[in-house]
Order: sequence, then C-alpha cells, then structure tokens
Amino acid sequence: MTEKWQELFRRAAEGALARVDDALKTHGYLRQLAERVREARLEVLNNLDYYIEATKKAVESIGGRAYLADTAEDAREIVGKIVGRGKVVVFGKSNTALEVGLREYLAEMGNEVWETDLGEFIVQIGDDRPSNMIAPALHLSRGDVAKLFRERLGLDVGDDPSKLAAAAGDFLRAKFAKADVGITGANAIAADTGAVVNVENEGNIRKATVMPPVHIVVAGVEKIVPTLVDAVSQAIVQAAYHGLFPPTYLEVSAGPSSTGDIELVRVRPAQGPREFHLVLVDNGRRAAAKDPVMREALLCIRCVRCGFVCPVYRAVGREFGDPPYVGPVGVMWLAVTRGIEAAGPSAVKCAHAGNCREVCPMKINIPEIIHYIKSSYLSKKTK
Ligand code: SF4
Repeated sequence: MTEKWQELFRRAAEGALARVDDALKTHGYLRQLAERVREARLEVLNNLDYYIEATKKAVESIGGRAYLADTAEDAREIVGKIVGRGKVVVFGKSNTALEVGLREYLAEMGNEVWETDLGEFIVQIGDDRPSNMIAPALHLSRGDVAKLFRERLGLDVGDDPSKLAAAAGDFLRAKFAKADVGITGANAIAADTGAVVNVENEGNIRKATVMPPVHIVVAGVEKIVPTLVDAVSQAIVQAAYHGLFPPTYLEVSAGPSSTGDIELVRVRPAQGPREFHLVLVDNGRRAAAKDPVMREALLCIRCVRCGFVCPVYRAVGREFGDPPYVGPVGVMWLAVTRGIEAAGPSAVKCAHAGNCREVCPMKINIPEIIHYIKSSYLSKKTK
C-alpha cells in the first residue's frame, strides 16, 4: 500500500504543483486575490459571532432557513429532521458532512444516500476512507477503480479513466433524477447576501444544488466571508492553488430558486429547489477562534497545496491525520473539530520540514500550529 500510494501521490502532486505554478505565472492577479481573501477571512475571524448572525439573517431574507449546529450531533439532528425518512439523498462534495458523519446517519434513518463527487463515490462503493480532502480516491489506481465498478456496480468498462468517469456519470444521473434532497458543502458563504459559493469541475454539485426540490448546505462557520465578491474570490483562489484553474463551474446558490419573469416581480420557488437550508457547523471552530495559536487554522481555504509538498503525507498518506482530515491541513482540522487528543498522534509524526507554510496561500504558520498540538498532547500524556 505504501509504495503504491507514494507512486500515485508523486504523480498527482507533481502535476498539481506544476499547474499551480503555471496559473500563478500566467494570471498575476491570483496572488493579489489570495491576499484580499486572507484579509476578508481575518475580518470574519475577528468578529465571528457577528458574522454568523449576519449570515443567518441574510439567508432568512432570501427565503431560506439558517441554523447553527454547536456540535456534530446537532448537525446530524438538524439535517435528519429536514430530510426525514425514505428519501433519496444526493451529496455534492462536503468534508464537513463527512466530519459530522452525515451520510451514515441519514442511511441509518432509512434513506438512500449517494455521494456524487466521483472520488467520494468511489470511496463510498468501496466502503473505503478518503485519502485526500479534494481527491478522496487518490490512493486507488485506475485498475482498482475498474475492479470496484465491476464487482460493486456490475459495470465492466475497462480501466480508461474517461470511460470510468462516464460510466459513473450515467449511474449517478439516474440517482439525481429521482433525488428528493441535495446536500452540498460550500467553498464560501457571503454574510451580506446569504449566498453560498461552490467551485467544481464535474458538474455534480451543480446538479445537487438545482435538481432536487430541497437543497441543504452543510458547512463550517469559518466559510463565512463578508461579501459575495469575497466568496467568489475565495472559490477562485481555492481552485487556482489546488491546480485546477480555471475551474469548470462556479456556482452561486442564494435561497430557493426564483424568477422575475412576470411583471419583474421576484417570486420563489421557480424551477429549481423550493427549499434552501444552510446548516452552519461550529463543532469546535468558535473555541479555536479564541485560541491564540489555533485560530489561524480557521483561515484555511482547503486548497490542500500544503499536502502536496509535505514529506510525511507523501510517505504515509492518510495515516498522517484521520479521514477526512489528512495531511498537514488535516492535522490542524482534527484538532479544531475533535480536539488535541484526536490530533496528537498525527501531530507527533510531523517532521517540521516547513514546506507547507511556504506554499500556503493564506500564509498560515502550519508548523507552529502542529507544534502547538504536539506539545499540548505530549504534556497531557506526561502529566
Ligand atoms: S493550510 Fe494553507 S495550503 Fe493547506 S489547505 Fe489550508 S489554505 Fe491550503
């Protein structure tokens, strides 16, 4: 597993890093945009409670419902009540949904639940765990995926990635067509308008936000930024620093579907979802925001560029962290969401190479945060 991971990772990381460098050289505005996004994130971090309330009010003003879940359990209960039982639920990509165990919870309630991001879908049908926060099936080769499709779905299409992607697309299109609820995450949430922005390439998030009659967004409170312009900027920066620029799709979801086509009066719903719910998840984030060292982790936009240059993640993969939170960014997020005890065993593996800090678009001092987690964990152990 380790050698195979190292080879798959090496190829993926080399390609991604080269594409990031290329985008930054070609589009000079990306670095400035990243600086502006950092400023926007800092503004929210310094006034988090204010922006949470402003976001909730903004969502209500556009016909949606907004909730603040203090814990993972609260998030599951809130979403469970909205969804109910016996429904077909399609997930777009949401690491926060994975963080709170939403898929398993909804399935246990008696719902048919499908991940629709190709990587998450592969992980789901393999009863596996993700190895990367953006590319969850990074540990699997095309041959592995072909075998899974054959054995778990009865789809025998060979191991050409484009054929595998098309087969998954056909399979999932049928699920979208009958879905009652779409659940997505958010790259950013605009406090001034209540609009949620997602960036993607597959088109599955677009479908999950528009096709089912109910759209639920599950996202951490740190995704809030002051304005819609900040939110779009953040999504663009995230795509660029992940190595997928320009992104194929950029989506704004602001409340239930609407139209102004009759007498220019804006009414809701129209052809898309008739319900829009935003579930903001705290789960340790507000406490982290008050910690002088941990708070910087909340500036993270989850581009995972830090993971691509990390020698420990390169060597051991998802063992550095605990899925979905893996790699240097994952160790920080484990500490935020599950505490020092959960993150400590991974933090002690950190080699403190410092590469992560050099490449982080948000200029987060990741080694300092991991050192802090490590020393807090070890001092508790030796007491
Ligand atoms: S810590 Fe920085 S480099 Fe790593 S995922 Fe977050 S924003 Fe990207």
